[in-house]
Amino acid sequence: MNEDFLYGRRLLIQELPLNYKPSDQVGISPAMELKKTMIRCTRCNYTSSISEVALPQNQYFCPKCIALGRVSTLTKFYHLPEPNQFPTVADPLTWQGTLSPLQQQCSLEVCHCLQRHFKHLLWAVTGAGKTEMLFAAISQALSRGERLAIASPRVDVCLELYPRLQLAFANIEICLLHGRQDEPYSYRQLTICTTHQLLRFYHAFDNLIVDEVDAFPYAENQQLYFATQQAIKPSGGCLFLTATPGPKLLRQVKRKEIGISYLPLRYHGHLLPEIKVKLAPTWRSQIKQKKLPRTLVQAIKIRLVQHRPFLLFVPHVADLSLFKISLSKYFPKQECVTVHAADKKRLEKVQLMRDQKILFLVTTSILERGVTFPDIDVLVLGADDNVFSSAALVQIAGRAGRSLSRPTGDVLFWLGSYSVNVRAAIKQIKFVNQKGRKLQ
Ligand SMILES: [Zn+2]
Repeated sequence: MNEDFLYGRRLLIQELPLNYKPSDQVGISPAMELKKTMIRCTRCNYTSSISEVALPQNQYFCPKCIALGRVSTLTKFYHLPEPNQFPTVADPLTWQGTLSPLQQQCSLEVCHCLQRHFKHLLWAVTGAGKTEMLFAAISQALSRGERLAIASPRVDVCLELYPRLQLAFANIEICLLHGRQDEPYSYRQLTICTTHQLLRFYHAFDNLIVDEVDAFPYAENQQLYFATQQAIKPSGGCLFLTATPGPKLLRQVKRKEIGISYLPLRYHGHLLPEIKVKLAPTWRSQIKQKKLPRTLVQAIKIRLVQHRPFLLFVPHVADLSLFKISLSKYFPKQECVTVHAADKKRLEKVQLMRDQKILFLVTTSILERGVTFPDIDVLVLGADDNVFSSAALVQIAGRAGRSLSRPTGDVLFWLGSYSVNVRAAIKQIKFVNQKGRKLQ
C-alpha cells in the first residue's frame, strides 16, 4: 500500500485508512509522555496535571488540541520521514506579472532566505503586495525539490491564497488543508494550510512560510508555535510574514534569533496614511443619548457631500445599532448599513460596498484584514477600546489609501483617551514610514 500520507506527518491510529497495515519503515511513537503527576502531549506540547485529564483505567488525554482528534494514552503516532518524492519541474512559475523595483529587491531577499533555510521575518506594510514577492523564492525551492508550505492562522487567507498560487504555479498540484474542508489529504510538494493543520506534520518542510503571523489564533499561541517548529525539518527554514509584528517576534529579531527585512512602502510606492486622533471623552455617553461627537458628524458630512467612501469601525456589535440611531438624528434620510461577524448578510453587505452601491459601511473589527476597497477613508469611533489590539488598529488604518488613484486616504480615530494600543499603533506606522521615506 502507498504510504505517502505518512511522509512528514504524524497521525493518530484513528486518522489512518481502514485496514491499513503499517510497513516496517513506519515509526510508531507514544502520543503522550507521563512525568510523575504531569503529562505532556507530543503533538502540541501542552502539559497537563494528570488529575485534570484523566480517563477511566489510568488513561489520559490532551484537552488542548482535541479539535484535531483526541490525543490520549490509548493511541499512538505513526510517522514516515519526508523523502521529497516529487517529480522535477524545471521552471514551475507560470506567473507573468512584474514587480516594482522595491518588490524586486525584497523578492531577492526572500529567495536568499529560502535558499539558505533562514529563520526570517518579512515586515511588509499592508498593501505591499507581498504574495507576488514570494513567487520567485517558491519557484526556486520547488526546482530544488524541496517540500514547502504556506500556513496562515486564518482560513480566509488560505482560501484566497490557494487560487492565486494555483494560477502562478499552474503545473504544480497544491494541497489545501483547513478545518472546514471535505477533500481528503494528498501528498504534494506545495501545501497551503491553516496553522492548526501544522499539528499533523512532523519534520516535513524544507521551508515553511507563515503568513499573518500576528493574527488570531496564532499570536501568543504556544501550541501553534510548537506545531510550526515541529512541522519544519531540523535543517529547514521559516519565513514569517506580517504587517504588524508583535513584541515576541520583535524580541527574537533583537536577540538575532531571526533575521528581518522591511518592505515599508505599498505596491504603489506611497507611505501608509498616518493616524489622526480626535479626542471625544464623552462619546460613550453621547451615543447612548443618540448623539455623536461634533467632529465625527462633521467628518461624516464632508464625506457624504463629497461622495467619498469610508469604513466606520466601532468596538462592539451593540454599538452598531446605537450608532445607526444616533446617525439618523443628524442625517435622517441617509441609509446606514452595519455589519458584524455573525451577520448572515455579511458577504452581501461587503459586496454592496465593493460595488459602490453604498457610500459607507459601519462595522466591528471583522473587516480589519483581508478586505480591500480601493478608495476609502477609515474612521474609528472608540479606537481606545480594549477590543482593538495595536495590530488590529494598524490593520484597520491600512484599509485606507490602497489604490494608485487615491494612495493617501484619511485615517481618523475618535478616542475617549489615549490607550497603550493607540499609541503603539501610531508609533508603528510612524516607524515604517520613516524607513519608507528613505526609499522614496
Ligand atoms: Zn495536545
